[in-house]
Amino acid sequence: MKSIALGFALFFVVSGCARSTATGTPAPTAADAKKFLDEANDATLKLGTESNQASWVSENFITDDTSSLNARANQRSIDAAARYAKDAVKFDHVELDPVSRRELDLLKVSLVMATPSDPKEGEELTGIAADMDGEYGKGKWCEDPKKPESCLDINQITNIMRDSRDEKKLRQVWEGWHTISPPMRQQYTRFVELSNKGARELGFADTGAMWRSKYDMPPDAFSKELDRLWDQVRPLYLKLHAYVRMKLREKYGDIVPANGPIPAHLLGNIWAQEWENIYPLVAPQNVDRGYDLTRILKAHNTSPTDMVKTGERFYTSLGFAPLPKTFWDRSLFIKPRDRDVVCHASAWDLDSVDDLRIKMCIQPNEEDFTTIHHELGHNFYQRAYKDLPVLLRDSANDGFHEAIGDTIALSVTPEYLVKIGLLDKAPDSSRDIGLLLNKALEKIAFLPFGLLIDQWRWKVFSGEVKPADYNKAWWDLRLKYQGIAPPTARGEEFFDPGAKYHVASNTPYARYFLAYILQFQFHRALSQAAGCTLPIHRCSIFESAEAGKRLNAMLSMGQSKPWPDALEAIAGTKQMDATAILDYFKPLDAWLDQQIKGQPVGW
Ligand SMILES: [Zn+2]
Repeated sequence: MKSIALGFALFFVVSGCARSTATGTPAPTAADAKKFLDEANDATLKLGTESNQASWVSENFITDDTSSLNARANQRSIDAAARYAKDAVKFDHVELDPVSRRELDLLKVSLVMATPSDPKEGEELTGIAADMDGEYGKGKWCEDPKKPESCLDINQITNIMRDSRDEKKLRQVWEGWHTISPPMRQQYTRFVELSNKGARELGFADTGAMWRSKYDMPPDAFSKELDRLWDQVRPLYLKLHAYVRMKLREKYGDIVPANGPIPAHLLGNIWAQEWENIYPLVAPQNVDRGYDLTRILKAHNTSPTDMVKTGERFYTSLGFAPLPKTFWDRSLFIKPRDRDVVCHASAWDLDSVDDLRIKMCIQPNEEDFTTIHHELGHNFYQRAYKDLPVLLRDSANDGFHEAIGDTIALSVTPEYLVKIGLLDKAPDSSRDIGLLLNKALEKIAFLPFGLLIDQWRWKVFSGEVKPADYNKAWWDLRLKYQGIAPPTARGEEFFDPGAKYHVASNTPYARYFLAYILQFQFHRALSQAAGCTLPIHRCSIFESAEAGKRLNAMLSMGQSKPWPDALEAIAGTKQMDATAILDYFKPLDAWLDQQIKGQPVGW
């Protein structure tokens, strides 16, 4: 998943106190609220820019010094955000214009973790959060603890899960990685108690309700909404699951049950969250799509700058202004030879106006070509909302930013490659199944996983799941949504949720589920606006001024309005709709029906 540096959105911690029970002080006025918001906007811009600059430098010149300068700048930004979130409550009963009210509401729900007002408890919570994050980051599994060279970190584990087809090896590595998290179990229990206490002091039922309150609807309505979307795509997931299970049984034999859940270690990913790495195991015969973009890019001697220029041209063809000169002067496209940098692709908006950049170590291959189109989506979004008050400069909700980049990436079709001169002729549609299956292994397989991470946390934060059942509840959900089972029994001596980064680092996850749903809905709506009459998966909005107008109408709203309004601007409806996914994968759905005829479906 591509990361995006928004700076201002990084409000992790509040070291705050409860609402003051002031007596005798005059009630705040609209003018007080305005003054408060002016200050909050100014400080957010100033601290955010400083923090972005420090992050940029530390990721471009990795040293101990740049890292501690970055941590300090970041902390100042986080502390300020926490202060403003707490103080915003003072104006709850002041009559205000809609824009100011929106800004205050957004400040109040901006926190991911609220520390209790008791300073000792606040410090304890902050310490636990940092510890769990650190334990994950340092996490290693050593086949022989006496031999440091046998120790594997998450990157090495990831590579083995991706490449190995040796069931015993995969099981060993899978179990190995899950040894990093049992030490977090006690900490997590305490973390839940304390962060809930902080959330309650801010008026939320618990931390999970605080997270769900960011979505312009009551927290419980939001959970129901996600379940409704999942029910729309579940039949297609069941078919994909049945097909993959059948193929894995051909490869691994009885270790994969004919009609039960798929063992979690055989799907090419340590969390079984995306399955495209096992595409070669499940690929149908004779569906080679007939061209190799990586080979074409290499044959054309395409430079990284050429690739980014091509990406920019996609957006200018929709009517967006070209990127500023500073983008080309300040971005990083090539891995430097003389220093360590963070190569993970990211998009930046350093001054929240027009100091846009991307940072990635570009290789001339298809993946990077698509990623460039994705990253630039963040940049064009950022620039589209630059004229709003600082507090409103963000995506409509946290699913929208990722969804935009992916929406544009869905337009990188063979027809588009023909138009820009990289391909002579688009292959005929008989070649589409391979492409669609590969995409389904990434996007459809992810959906139940994207949903269940926060299903588990919401239940844990609300107390519905007690500490004594943490692991059982985790595997119950993985079975229910994904149809996945652990390779060996996992009792309460383990803490398997903690072996996933976003749990250990307390990063909410529902945004990824939303992004995966929304990108197809956006793509379908924009393709219609562009007048595309091909099957949706073949549509590209390249060169469509009409689609560009629709897209810009939504992007320029930032988060000034509730997200259903932004959705309406692009898709003509206020409701999220996962049927766009079914439309996109329609040929695959029919193909899967044939493949699994007579096979069991479900678990
Ligand atoms: Zn992204």
